Order: sequence, then C-alpha cells, then structure tokens
Amino acid sequence: MTHGFTSVRQIVEQGYCVSCGLCTAFSNGAAQMGYTTSGQYRPDVEALTPEVEAKILTHCPGINVAGPWDVPLKQMHPIWGEVRTVCMGWSRDPDTRHRASAGGVMTALNRFALDSGQADFILQVAADGDDALHSNPVMIRNAEDLLTGSQSRYAPVAPLAAILDALDTGERFVVSLKPCDIAGVRNLQKTDARAREQIVFTQAMFCGTTPSRSETEAFFHRRNVRAKDLTDMRWRGHGCPGKTVGFLPGGIEVDGPYSELWTDKWKTQFRCKICPDAIALQADIATGDIWPGGMPKGETPGENAIISHTKRGDDILHQAINAGYLEVTDLTIDDVSDSQPHHVDLRRTFGTRVQATTDAGHNAPNFTDLNEHQLTHTLDADEKAATHAGTLRRVKAGQGDECVDFDGFS
Ligand SMILES: Cc1cc2nc3c(=O)[nH]c(=O)nc-3n(C[C@H](O)[C@H](O)[C@H](O)COP(=O)(O)OP(=O)(O)OC[C@H]3O[C@@H](n4cnc5c(N)ncnc54)[C@H](O)[C@@H]3O)c2cc1C
Repeated sequence: MTHGFTSVRQIVEQGYCVSCGLCTAFSNGAAQMGYTTSGQYRPDVEALTPEVEAKILTHCPGINVAGPWDVPLKQMHPIWGEVRTVCMGWSRDPDTRHRASAGGVMTALNRFALDSGQADFILQVAADGDDALHSNPVMIRNAEDLLTGSQSRYAPVAPLAAILDALDTGERFVVSLKPCDIAGVRNLQKTDARAREQIVFTQAMFCGTTPSRSETEAFFHRRNVRAKDLTDMRWRGHGCPGKTVGFLPGGIEVDGPYSELWTDKWKTQFRCKICPDAIALQADIATGDIWPGGMPKGETPGENAIISHTKRGDDILHQAINAGYLEVTDLTIDDVSDSQPHHVDLRRTFGTRVQATTDAGHNAPNFTDLNEHQLTHTLDADEKAATHAGTLRRVKAGQGDECVDFDGFS
C-alpha cells in the first residue's frame, strides 16, 4: 500500500504532521521547525526542494506507519502486538526513580546501555537552556546528563531533526523517544543501512498525545507567570506523578497538580487523535504508567509497565534486570490494558477515524500491518458511527494543523 500524499504541505495542512523533525534533517538545515500561533511545532515547507520532498514522502512517520503484523503466523496480542515479556518495574537507583517521569525505567535502560558499553550515546530529548518549555534532541554520553533528560516533556519537540547527525558520528546509540519518533526511525532503517547497524535498540513510552505548547503556557498564565520568565520547569517527576513545577529567578517556584493539564479539555494535534500506534508497537521496548483506570490515585515512588516487543528488546531488558539496573515484579497484559483504557480505545477505533478523514476528502495515509481490520470489527454499529462522526466533525471544522480540543479519545 502507498499513501495518497503528494506534498509535505498536504501532510501539514491536513493535520498529519507529528513534529518529529525528520524532514528538517533531510533538508540539511534548509527547512527549520517553528511554532505556529496555536503552539504546535511545524516545518517550513517552503524551504524544501523536490528531491528532499520525495524523500520525506517516503519516510514521514505522520503518514507512513508499518506495524508488526507483517508475519501472519505470529502469535500477536490484538492491541499490544508481540509481547515477549510484560512486567512492572522501576530503576534500582533511588535518585533516578525519584526524579524520572514514572519509575525511571527508560533512564535505567539507557544507563545500562552506556555502562555496559553497548551504546556510545543515547538520542533523546532534554530541556532547552533558554526556553524552559522548549526541548531539543540531545546525544547523551554520561549518567549525570541522562538524569537531566529523564522526564516527560509534554510539549512539541523535533527529536529526529538530529537523527542524521547521530548517524554521521559512526557510533552506536539507543533511541529513547515517543512512538511516532520510533516510526520515523523504523522508516529510515528500511533505506539507510547505518540506521540498521548503529542503532542498538529503540524504546518509547505509551504516548497519549503531544499537547500544544500553549497548554503549558496557560498553566503558568493562570498563576500570573509568563513562560518566558521561567528558568526551568518540569511537567512531573520527583515522585510519581509529582507536581508540575516552574522555576523563576531568585529561587521562586510555582506549581500545580499534574492532573491539571489532563482533567479539563486541552489542546492537542490532530494526528494524535487518529494515531495508529501510540503504544510503541514498533519499539524494541515500550513502557508507560501503571495507574489502574488510567489516572494516578495518589503519589507513589514510581513504577512503569514494561513490554518487550522484539528479541533485541527482550535481551536488553533481561540483561538490565540481571545487572541490577531494574527491579521488576509480575504484571499481566490485562493489567496494562486496565491502566491504559484510552490506548485500548484508540487502537480499536483508529481505522474508523482514519476512514473518516478520507471520507472527508483528505489523502489516505500508508498505515499497514497494524491489525486494523480485527480491531475495527470489535466495534458495534453505534460505536463506529459515533467515532466516525466525531472525526468528521473535527475535519469539517477545519481542524487540520489546528489544535483540537482533547476530550479523551471520543
Ligand atoms: C508526550 C507524552 C505522552 C505520554 N502519554 C502517556 C500515556 O498515554 N500513557 C502512559 O502510561 N504514559 C504516558 N506518558 C508518560 C510515560 O509513561 C512515561 O514517560 C514513561 O512511563 C517513561 O517513564 P520513565 O520514568 O521510564 O521515563 P524517564 O526515565 O523519565 O525517561 C523519559 C524518556 O522519555 C523521553 N521523552 C520525554 N518527553 C519526550 C517527548 N516529548 N518526545 C520524545 N521523547 C520524550 C526522554 O527522552 C527520556 O528518554 C507520556 C509521556 C510523554 C512525554
């Protein structure tokens, strides 16, 4: 299957951009990412040559996602894909566990990869030094810097803007990002041997959405603080989930509950509403929170649900456990479904959502091997009609690259 897009402008205007930045990497710096008035992060499509544009159309993870259902005889879980190991875990280093987003599993696995000499650096994201809400891709080579990057950054970032630079080092590295970023890496691995050889493993969190930057600006505005005056911030961490905290000059802190960003309506990008793989089916290791029902019931020391999807991911996970980097305990895949109801719903409905966009006249993406048909068949007629109508309503309201109200995944 191929997609129906003929330009990057269409990808952006029809709301398929995930802001990963791969297109800017292909443009060799000619195209830059920039914020839209709605707080999303988008490439400057005017700066792309036809050659670069052709490459982007082949690799863009906004419109090209190939899941793991390419071998029909594999035993696959219909929602969660190939599950080799599922467990609950956390970093055995108390500082990492405390400071990290959840239990510090991603940071602990990255630390293990560096300490064991399997990777020379980690490609992940970290806060920008001048703009506290902004994040940059970084190549981290030591434990101290790993800790500064260990958090959930709930705002747009373009980590794949650095993927070609990472490959140009000739060194081995881990990719530790979001599911859509991993989809871009997988697309690149199909055409670039270096990406197959140098990337030691990939890991990603389950990703409910990338909220617009303006959501976090609004959080601070409600506290009479301008985001540009912040010297630093974190969305969560220092406990699980911890508070959302901003830091001002003079040691002043402003904070609010983690749940404030998620319990009311908030703005996200359209592509997240139709995402075919927000649970990192393509990553070697996927991880997320383990909050029964999908929201925290209070503070905990920090725990992750962990799924290894591939042999490579499973080997790394067990090596890290055996080397004392992770503590793990039993978990079932049903427990994971119970803690991620929005992801189960999105997986069941994404096919109908995508269908609604094409019924509205938008181009068709190239989403394959994602178990779409089996999952769509789990919907009854009412669910299907309501889902289809909801997406149509958003598209017809002109919500392409504009932010959409996030109202759960209905
Ligand atoms: C945008 C976003 C949406 C999320 N949605 C869900 C969800 O639906 N369900 C759920 O259970 N959990 C969600 N999470 C939180 C996630 O569960 C935890 O981040 C994850 O469990 C990892 O926790 P950790 O303690 O192992 O991570 P840490 O050890 O703190 O490491 C965090 C890692 O995440 C990477 N990272 C952080 N922010 C970004 C970003 N914006 N883009 C790319 N990479 C990033 C960092 O590079 C780092 O490698 C989301 C996180 C983010 C950033």
